[in-house]
Amino acid sequence: MNFCSACGSANIALQIPEGDNKLRYVCADCGCIYYQNPKIVTGCLAVWEQQILLCRRAIEPRYGLWTLPAGFMENGESLEQAAQRETWEEAQAKVNNLQLYTITSLPRVNQVYVMFRGELLDTSYACGIESLEVELFSITELPWHKLAFRVIEQTLNLYCSDAAKKQFKLHVDTID
Ligand SMILES: [Zn+2]
Repeated sequence: MNFCSACGSANIALQIPEGDNKLRYVCADCGCIYYQNPKIVTGCLAVWEQQILLCRRAIEPRYGLWTLPAGFMENGESLEQAAQRETWEEAQAKVNNLQLYTITSLPRVNQVYVMFRGELLDTSYACGIESLEVELFSITELPWHKLAFRVIEQTLNLYCSDAAKKQFKLHVDTID
């Protein structure tokens, strides 16, 4: 952090404010304290006739690898709206009947992933601007060695094992 966004001062220092126990960026001129908190990433495991919709990334990081449609939640929207928006932006797909499925803390990168299961309305999906390909995969054909993120691999793993048991429950995990 180089400048205070409250007063414009460059006089910023990392220090532990009084009554706190963590290092924060503090403006020495106006006293403004900058708290940094985890970001929420949300998306959908969208299903059509037991097949799962995956997107191949057209952006870094992990260009060219497969992922579930997901992205950072925006201010002013609900989790479900964010998950549906990301599914539309990345896969031009509409989903409904969203069910909360996995909540995964990633403390090393200061993110929390919240993934929903959802039903695709139809098969009129297409590439959004951040995708090279969008495709439905059956559980036996998932591209396990070409997945972009461990949290996505874990979510798909849970889905496969839940699907085998025909019983889906909420999973709360941490990847450290
Ligand atoms: Zn300031």
